[in-house]
Amino acid sequence: MSNFVLPGDKIAITEEYEAGNNACDDGNVVRATVIGENQIDKKERLVHVKNHKSLSVPEVGDVVIGTVEAVMGSMMAILIKYINGKAVKSQVECICPTRNIRKRNIALVKDLVKLKITGHLNGAIHATIQDPSLGVLFTKCRKCGMDVKPLRDIVKCVECGWTDDRKLSSDFLKTDFLKVGE
Ligand SMILES: [Zn+2]
Repeated sequence: MSNFVLPGDKIAITEEYEAGNNACDDGNVVRATVIGENQIDKKERLVHVKNHKSLSVPEVGDVVIGTVEAVMGSMMAILIKYINGKAVKSQVECICPTRNIRKRNIALVKDLVKLKITGHLNGAIHATIQDPSLGVLFTKCRKCGMDVKPLRDIVKCVECGWTDDRKLSSDFLKTDFLKVGE
């Protein structure tokens, strides 16, 4: 997980650290006052929040592209690389519920996926994959790790011929998104 924090997030306890830049303490807990990256200065015993310029947090309706970090039973976690086609350096993750999607392998870890942000809940950014344009942009064969080609709504490995399903984006294997915003 990243050290990304939202305003009001607990970033330390006052017994250990004092509030530094973009932080405040309520007597017990040090909290962030801005969106940013939490940075601990052990020497000065201060905790700062760096309000990074390139740190962008996607808003509801934004289209994001990122790499799948983890696939769980009913959701996956994605590290966001692009917001509305613009590259972002911040290590912001979002969560995408997948329980309503009838695919065995919606996406694999390391796949590049396109999602739409649906909201912020309990400090987590939530996204959806349920639109024809949303889904996997790049993936590899689950058996041998080689490239795959789309075959209607499934994918087939160019090397070993293994066929598999994914929730493919209509932009699957297109690279245009990389030119946008660069
Ligand atoms: Zn293969």
